[in-house]
Amino acid sequence: MKLKVALGIIAITGSLWSCKTDTNEADKLNEDLIEMSSENFDYKVEQFADIKLLRYQIPGWENLALKEQKLVYYLTQAGLSGRDIIWDQNYRHNLTIRKALENVYSNYNGDKTTEDWKAFNKYLKRLWFSNGIHHHYSNDKIKPEFSSEYLKTLLAQTNTTLEGEAFEVLFNEMDAKKVNQAKGVDNVFESAVNFYGTNVTNADVENFYAQKKSPNPEKPLSFGLNSKLVKEGGVLKERVYKSGGLYGEAIDEIVKWLALAQGVAENKAQGDALGLLIQYYKTGDLQTWDDYNVAWTAATDGNIDYINSFIEVYNDPLGYRGSYETVVQIKDFDMSAKMAVLSENAQWFEDNSPLMDAHKKETVVGVTYKVVTVAGEAGDASPSTPIGVNLPNANWIRAAVGSKSVSLGNIINAYNNAGSSGRLGEFVHDEEEHELEKAHGQLADKLHTALHEVIGHASGQLNPGVGETKETLKNYASTLEEGRADLVGLYYLFNPKLQELGLVQDWEAVGKAAFDGYIRNGLMTQLIRLNLGDDVEEAHMRNRQWVSAWAFEKGKADNVIEKVTRDGKTYYNINDYAKLRELFGQLLRETQRIKSEGDFNAVEALVEGYGVKVNQTLHAEVLERNKQFTSAPYSGFVNPVLVPEMDEAGEINSIKVMQPSSFEYQMLNYSNTFGFLPAVNYKEVATDIKL
Ligand SMILES: [Zn+2]
Repeated sequence: MKLKVALGIIAITGSLWSCKTDTNEADKLNEDLIEMSSENFDYKVEQFADIKLLRYQIPGWENLALKEQKLVYYLTQAGLSGRDIIWDQNYRHNLTIRKALENVYSNYNGDKTTEDWKAFNKYLKRLWFSNGIHHHYSNDKIKPEFSSEYLKTLLAQTNTTLEGEAFEVLFNEMDAKKVNQAKGVDNVFESAVNFYGTNVTNADVENFYAQKKSPNPEKPLSFGLNSKLVKEGGVLKERVYKSGGLYGEAIDEIVKWLALAQGVAENKAQGDALGLLIQYYKTGDLQTWDDYNVAWTAATDGNIDYINSFIEVYNDPLGYRGSYETVVQIKDFDMSAKMAVLSENAQWFEDNSPLMDAHKKETVVGVTYKVVTVAGEAGDASPSTPIGVNLPNANWIRAAVGSKSVSLGNIINAYNNAGSSGRLGEFVHDEEEHELEKAHGQLADKLHTALHEVIGHASGQLNPGVGETKETLKNYASTLEEGRADLVGLYYLFNPKLQELGLVQDWEAVGKAAFDGYIRNGLMTQLIRLNLGDDVEEAHMRNRQWVSAWAFEKGKADNVIEKVTRDGKTYYNINDYAKLRELFGQLLRETQRIKSEGDFNAVEALVEGYGVKVNQTLHAEVLERNKQFTSAPYSGFVNPVLVPEMDEAGEINSIKVMQPSSFEYQMLNYSNTFGFLPAVNYKEVATDIKL
């Protein structure tokens, strides 16, 4: 499972992208790789279409031993070696198209000042960002803003071949959606994603896997995870991703680097897990995949960890096939120590919570949750990245062995630092609120996430005999649970206990910043994500609104949160933080009661009453005030570049962290260095082609 960027992170801290260009940006473009100190770190790379590209740092790199740095380096090289796989998985013509367009880009020396050329540039960047011709988020085919005639001229002038379906598809209506999840259509047949032959249907897939039986039904194998299902002469066959199989050329490179990583593993458990992953890549055997996951999940001792393989199944309309991805992680020692403090004190938090006694857990165990520093990403995790990941996905392994839940700390940090505070200035009520947010907003945000994850989700218990919330609370289960975990965090954020535990230096300031940010976001700034007239739909957005709106209403008599209108603009000002904390406590007690009793009517009234409908006048005002901030809605990252230096014997004696100067440099460099797959990886015979 992966957590995509939480809308709140950006909005809560109020730091967002601004479009101003750096004065020295032109100078930097002259060099491909640049060194950046953390004091003068430039988070912004560029913005185009609906995308902004950022950089992230690897804080603490110099504190790693050389052996650990090597491990990180080998794992990132392994990850990048599979980059072409995600392109081919996303769409069968993606590699053909990318190779052709990159050849044009690198060799064209005609007029580069025209609108057409700029449109071509933008189109190629959008493809790089999405790992293919379909939008990374909406799944719609990206429309070029230049004509097919113009592309033909470019192809001719650069001696590039792109013809037939792979050319026509850029301009016609074919394969319009990467993943088609619509109701009532044949989703496999209608999806452009390259997990199935073009003539394979939903029914084919269901029938094929209905016949697969796991040797041990209690430990079901992940059938279909690592193959393409094709129909040849009417017969369904899996083309397995493995050495010597589909994507074998790239997989052999992955294996080569994983073997080097295994050689510098931090401990036996980690090395053994890497060995099993290599074995899996060599054989494609799904029992080995499970053995690997059990070993990987149990290997928790090292400072370095990684995700590498065919993992998440969101890109398959039927959820069988895993998209290739990798994330290489270094433990964030400082934040992990803070998490450990919370985890160790989980019982204190439970005992001192405002829950009814019957709903408190007698023995509570904090959820294991690590903050990590990302050192490199590839495949489906790059350039668009998750901010948190919880693996493995197999439920039986999660139940039997557990799971690893990580938050990508330096990525979140880069999001937080990537912009100006213009929007924050627009929506804060006063200078004090502004200053508190600037000084303590990020720490407050991190601690809220930590309390939410480590204490919040672990807290409370169901009454005996009450079913799981997906049965009792139905479609409100997830917004109730997320709101409940948020409330646990809020209740403890304005609390001297955090200072006692050494987590903050000024609990009041941090707590105030946390409350200000939550209310500002829940009642106003998150509305910038919605179109006027829309209801709030997304579970987290709903809970931020129902928590904030409920507290606002219940505190009205005491003027706890004051709605202020100044120069025609609305602000919310918290007058009494201690009272607001009490209100959060009351609501926490109530949400836990709803969960413990499975009270559907109460959750429906709470969510529908406070979390769904939007005040249209306020919404229109917020959108109007937000117009001045031209921030692209989607973000992604270039990766730092790890540059090894060798001694005379060819041994690595140090590894430097550099940053790419530009997005196009990094993308072209990746294609040149890690372009291991041919343009076409599976050719259908004429009789089997979709009509
Ligand atoms: Zn949560």
